[in-house]
Amino acid sequence: MLVFEVKSEFPFFSLPNHPVYLDSAATTQKPRVLIDAYSRLLCQGVANVHRSAYRLANQWTDAFEQARQTVADFLGANASSMVWTRGTTESINLVARCFVEPMLKPGDRIAVSLLEHHANLVPWQQVCQRTGAELVFLPLNVEHQLDVSKLDEFFSTPVRFVAVTAMSNALGIVNDIPAIVAAAHRHQAKVLVDAAQYVAHQPIHVRAWDCDFLAFSAHKLYGPTGLGVLYGKPQLLASMLPWLTGGEMVTSVQQFSAEFQQAPLKFEAGTPAFIEAVAFAEVLRWLGTLDRQAFHAQEQKLLQMLDKGLDDIRHVHRLIKVGERAAISSFVVEAWHASDVASLLNERNIALRAGQLCAMPLLARLQQPALLRVSLGLYSDENDINALLNTLNDLSASTK
Ligand code: PLP
Repeated sequence: MLVFEVKSEFPFFSLPNHPVYLDSAATTQKPRVLIDAYSRLLCQGVANVHRSAYRLANQWTDAFEQARQTVADFLGANASSMVWTRGTTESINLVARCFVEPMLKPGDRIAVSLLEHHANLVPWQQVCQRTGAELVFLPLNVEHQLDVSKLDEFFSTPVRFVAVTAMSNALGIVNDIPAIVAAAHRHQAKVLVDAAQYVAHQPIHVRAWDCDFLAFSAHKLYGPTGLGVLYGKPQLLASMLPWLTGGEMVTSVQQFSAEFQQAPLKFEAGTPAFIEAVAFAEVLRWLGTLDRQAFHAQEQKLLQMLDKGLDDIRHVHRLIKVGERAAISSFVVEAWHASDVASLLNERNIALRAGQLCAMPLLARLQQPALLRVSLGLYSDENDINALLNTLNDLSASTK
């Protein structure tokens, strides 16, 4: 499918008076393939997975496990290392609770960065509070990029675990994950990668990255809500005890004790989001038919157009001007509060995010109370960007 044709695959954009949607980092619009899959799957009848032996139940169990294989192929991993969760937030909390917390003693260090979304910060604060471990922050340079050249020095004081984003949700900065993982491993620290944003923009290969864990949410990758993925190295998943217990994660239950399944099933207590998982696999197969390089080139072209357009508007200031970035441009408008600008844009039917972007410590570093964030998706085009720039130009012209 050609880049300019893809928008028609998203029924939302055929709605009369749909907004100019520039908030794909929050969640993406849904392609026809997902809507059709959902409707077809529900119409053909459902049966819970991993429970019964009748034909419909077996079909669903097979489709669910096939979906796990599809996600594993997408990440370059084995299906046995893929845990279904409800989203990135749950995946990160699972690792914090089940892998990191049990190994910590007071004074151990956990490293994150100031680029993290709250989902990859608050769980680590909590773990540190419960164990007496210390939360430390990876070095950033003056442009707020993670400073890979300082990592060996940083890790010379031992760190047990690193939790880092592959792409900042607030600024779009893309981190050099292979370099971060290699540096952490040289110093015996394990690494979790938060790929919630990155996954929609560039390919991931967990074996090439050699990360120990990786998390993302389906809804940011044109999939359904309520579904997420945790990749973990098999030997690490095998060493962990589950945090949620109950039906289907057990092999046998006695009156006072139970034996658990192997990973990944031991982490999937209760009924999983199996309809969503199977529908999401169809989305991944559809994405696999697209020319990702062409889409990446288009995204970079749009980002340049957006950046240049913003730079040309008086009173508008972009936050990040150098370094590798994907699909996100954040800015402020002099003399205007971000939420007032967002309301004005809303009046012109333009949807974008304004506020603290679930990154309050980062905004404190930037000395900004709030930002405006434009985030692009597969379906974004020049008309969307022109609509935004024209409105901001009008606003700027009305500002003294
Ligand atoms: N990490 C990053 C970088 C994000 O951008 C988000 C959501 O915006 C999350 C984690 C949390 O994702 P979810 O709300 O789907 O769990």
